Amino acid sequence: MRDRIIVIGGGLAGSEAVYQIAKRGIDVILYEMRGIKSTPVHKTNKLAELVCSNSLKSTDIYNANGLLKEELKKLDSLILKAGEFSRIDNSISLIVDRELFSDYVTNTISKFENVKIIREEIKEIPRDEIVIVATGPLTSESLSEDIKKLVKEEYLSFFDAVAPIVDGESLNYEKLFWADRFSDEGNYLNAPLTKEEYELFVNELLKAEKVELHEFEKDIKFFEGCLPIEEMARRGIDTLRYGPMNGKGLINPKTGKRPYAVVQLRPENRDKTAFSMVGFQTQMKWSEQKRVFRLIPGLENAEFLRYGVIHRNTFIKSPKILRETLQMKNYENIFFAGQIVGVEGYLPSTAMGLIAGINAYRLIKGLKPIFPSKYTMTGALLYYITHQDIKYFQPMNANFGLFEDIPKHLKSKAKKEYIVQRARREFSKFLEEVWNM
Ligand SMILES: Cc1cc2nc3c(=O)[nH]c(=O)nc-3n(C[C@H](O)[C@H](O)[C@H](O)COP(=O)(O)OP(=O)(O)OC[C@H]3O[C@@H](n4cnc5c(N)ncnc54)[C@H](O)[C@@H]3O)c2cc1C
Repeated sequence: MRDRIIVIGGGLAGSEAVYQIAKRGIDVILYEMRGIKSTPVHKTNKLAELVCSNSLKSTDIYNANGLLKEELKKLDSLILKAGEFSRIDNSISLIVDRELFSDYVTNTISKFENVKIIREEIKEIPRDEIVIVATGPLTSESLSEDIKKLVKEEYLSFFDAVAPIVDGESLNYEKLFWADRFSDEGNYLNAPLTKEEYELFVNELLKAEKVELHEFEKDIKFFEGCLPIEEMARRGIDTLRYGPMNGKGLINPKTGKRPYAVVQLRPENRDKTAFSMVGFQTQMKWSEQKRVFRLIPGLENAEFLRYGVIHRNTFIKSPKILRETLQMKNYENIFFAGQIVGVEGYLPSTAMGLIAGINAYRLIKGLKPIFPSKYTMTGALLYYITHQDIKYFQPMNANFGLFEDIPKHLKSKAKKEYIVQRARREFSKFLEEVWNM
């Protein structure tokens, strides 16, 4: 008979999970290595340290992060309460005082009599306990080795190389055409470029400012198939044209010819409302991505649901490993939570901690683990990490492009209104399950 839950990692997800379990009266042991050993980016020993920006993003309900906040609030999220407690102004973004924020979380958790905080680096996941692994993007090396054993080596990644995702509504379809190199199905949307457009694009790419890598990220070794596009462009004017921008096998129906170069956009969902730019992983600054990618014909007014990034990030290939309840497919007693499951950002990581916490509690109580519908923001993230095609699986932030089954005639404001109202209805059903047990 199990009578306690172990949480590994006292970051945003781990702290949230501990709170959700402890307030339901179950004993929790939280292992956090800081105090004994730090990560390359954390600066304190406090729980839930914000490692970089002090923004928890928008509170606008018509923004994916605002919707996620509303859901977290309804589930009594500790991290969100800490955010509201340490808020520094009344702007639309939730900007916090990082010291007050972590103090609030650390103090709240330390006051629970049923929580024991142990400062120790866990090197092996106990296979026979109920355990939540929430060790984040900088999971220690020894533990990463053990995770490899648990999940199969190829299902653990050490950096992400994310291509931008654009909002389908912001594209100029008159300049684009549907076609597929490998079949007649026309699964990709293609942006054809003339020689002049291509050369201008490559030149601007070479001039664009990049994000500086941190010292600890300088050893990232890119596979040839996954180089940043600016790196490919540096190898020669034609490199991109023979790489991700190759027009081979694609005929532009407007000219009847193969384009000089092409940018392929792959639908991110069944409804084709969001598209990722194939092979366009990049280290350019976000403002530069907007400027340079808008030079591509058809993308002049592109809105970015997610910008491209490349950084060090330990994450598991969740579609192969996890259920939507965040339990492992092979071990119902082992949960993963936080950024390590393949979400990106403070609040998506928190949401994963919250769901894992509720479900670890339910497991110990003999209740069925649960998850919200994919039409809620939290559920859409869970759905993405457990259903995305493994070939293209890269960490995902909260964005409205994750939602499917939206009536086609709805655009901009009306579309967002539909998404939000549907999410609210669906989330109420989940809340009933949570509170009624
Ligand atoms: C350099 C960098 C900058 C970032 N900037 C931003 C940003 O500006 N905005 C944003 O939204 N997101 C940012 N992120 C992503 C951010 O890290 C996550 O959003 C968030 O911190 C993830 O929460 P988490 O709980 O999964 O991981 P973390 O908050 O990192 O918590 C994981 C915890 O596990 C502990 N741990 C690791 N291994 C072990 C072990 N073996 N035993 C015990 N404890 C262990 C760590 O010490 C840490 O406390 C950034 C990430 C990095 C790496």
